[in-house]
Amino acid sequence: MGVPRDASKDDIKKAYRKLSKELHPDKHKGDKDKEHKFKEVNEAYEILGDESKRKQYDTFGAAGVGSGGTAGGFGGFDFSGFQNAGGGLGDIFESFFGGTRGTSRGRRTERGRDMEVRIEIEFAEAVSGAKKKIKIEKFVACDSCDAKGYEKGSQMIDCTDCAGTGQQIRTAQSFFGTIQQSVLCSTCSGAGKKPEKACGSCRGEGRKRESETMTIEIPAGIHDGQTLRLAGKGEVGKQGAVSGDLYVQVAIQHDPRFERNGDDIKTITILPVVDAILGTQIEVTTVHGKISLKIPAGTQPNQIFRIKGKGMPVLGSSRHGDHYVEVRVEVPSKLSGKERKLVEEWKKINS
Ligand SMILES: [Zn+2]
Ligand SMILES: [Zn+2]
Repeated sequence: MGVPRDASKDDIKKAYRKLSKELHPDKHKGDKDKEHKFKEVNEAYEILGDESKRKQYDTFGAAGVGSGGTAGGFGGFDFSGFQNAGGGLGDIFESFFGGTRGTSRGRRTERGRDMEVRIEIEFAEAVSGAKKKIKIEKFVACDSCDAKGYEKGSQMIDCTDCAGTGQQIRTAQSFFGTIQQSVLCSTCSGAGKKPEKACGSCRGEGRKRESETMTIEIPAGIHDGQTLRLAGKGEVGKQGAVSGDLYVQVAIQHDPRFERNGDDIKTITILPVVDAILGTQIEVTTVHGKISLKIPAGTQPNQIFRIKGKGMPVLGSSRHGDHYVEVRVEVPSKLSGKERKLVEEWKKINS
């Protein structure tokens, strides 16, 4: 039936309708095999029909979608199963898309895994940008063999278990009948090569698990929850293969003085009623320090003043957001005898 990998929503819908009609349990009462396939098709459609889930599948394989496999989550550093979907739901997709995933890929070297870390910074650091040191345990290049995986004077030779193809053929059952699937060779992880004489220090992997201290540069203007991608800073791949990426999710501590709205900042100033009436000069604390603001006579309660360009730095630019000052007018709950007299006098003038 062969729905291509980049199939449109309509193509998938058509294929699904056809299959679910054919396999519907009403037509095959008591046929356990057909019932199971019907379920599989529905499961596959649920993912394919949902754009976001499909994207997840395309990016991470079946492991990314949530049924089986660990798709990560912040806090830990182990994201095994991210790339190697293999089996389970993966097989259904192979059938859905027709053909096998492995064959088109051919020989490949195993790219290092992506990693995710979460760091917390102070509000002021989001304004100025910051350099943060983190310590992570990950695969780093083996220096005994220069990440090559073989001893000096040795070399890489064709893997004997897959005759250098990096692939092994597996026969699998799917709801379209028997299909031949080619899977990655488990001996060489698809590389097609293995060390003639493995490096004793890293047992031929070309990499070692170590804890590494890194300095992460946080750009000014970063937003709470934003993730930075540091290409090639994840785990080193096997035998010098490309490194994975490091994803850094940044959490920003709250500063009770400032309310952030995108790149803008809002603060609240409480103003005595006479100052609102007569006007005054006030001091405003912005993320860039204190500045003076003129409050004109006749300022209304909850009036908002904009101070241009005194908000947060705009990420990746030299511009800044604005600072807004909201004025709350305070009416005294008690008056002295003299004050009361004056206000009564004022009232008389107005009536
Ligand atoms: Zn080594
Ligand atoms: Zn092999």
